[in-house]
Amino acid sequence: MHLGKFRRVRRYGCCPVCSGRRLIGEGVLTLWPDSQQRQIRTYYRALLHSCGPQNWWPAESRFEVIVGAYLTQNTAWTNVEKALANLRAARLLSAEGIRRAPLAELERLIRPAGYFRQKAKRLKIFVAFLDRQYGGSLMRLFARPTAKLRDELLSLHGIGPETADSILLYAGNHPVFVVDTYTRRILARHGILPEAAPYEEIRELFEGALAPVAESVADSGEIGHQQLAAGFRGAAHPPSAMSTAKRTALAQVYNEMHGLIVGVGKNYCRKSQARCDECPLQRFLPRSTYRS
Ligand code: SF4
Repeated sequence: MHLGKFRRVRRYGCCPVCSGRRLIGEGVLTLWPDSQQRQIRTYYRALLHSCGPQNWWPAESRFEVIVGAYLTQNTAWTNVEKALANLRAARLLSAEGIRRAPLAELERLIRPAGYFRQKAKRLKIFVAFLDRQYGGSLMRLFARPTAKLRDELLSLHGIGPETADSILLYAGNHPVFVVDTYTRRILARHGILPEAAPYEEIRELFEGALAPVAESVADSGEIGHQQLAAGFRGAAHPPSAMSTAKRTALAQVYNEMHGLIVGVGKNYCRKSQARCDECPLQRFLPRSTYRS
């Protein structure tokens, strides 16, 4: 089911040469009906009530988030943790560390995360970009306007929308929603959007739906003071330097929603088996599908 209406729009991006605005194509902007946006808001509130704040991302520095965002491509987080531990033990979990580490050494250390040759090269490419464009400063990098920085990240080898948005949101505290496989699966199983819907369409749906939540949160200070329902599992981490970093209410709501969705995907909405009977979203299922 897809109920969005469309409006033709021109899309602009950042010119990599002059940093000016340039037309990168024409497309359609989805104008989401209130019903779908309301559904997303309801899911957010239900999940936050059931699972509580998730404390994403588990990292002590912005650079650690960036490395984690690369390493988690096509692998489980437990493997990423081993690779990060190796880098930390070798005192290479920093831009300076990645810069000076010989490629073969970097490959050896991140091997547990899989695709280690490809990922080692990509980390080197990121640091070279950081040095070339921002004098090696993450502060200068993240001071860029969100849309421009997103375009720059997307132009780097090995960065797709999910990795770019993870870096923007969790390392830079930019208000961008991260769409992953779990998000697609839940939307499809609840009849909101097909699993193969374009990334940008899903991102726009969530960002539009959650913006009013952020406004009410900013007024009430609601985040972090949730009453938890008993028995539901999320993907919560212990508070970390990055999870407790200062950010806008909008970035916090996007941060939280992605973490909550990961919790549902990992614990209940699995690819081969949907454990709807135990899931906090069970009561929102369309009657014709998984509802028991
Ligand atoms: S497990 Fe069932 S109720 Fe939970 S999100 Fe998946 S389809 Fe929905």
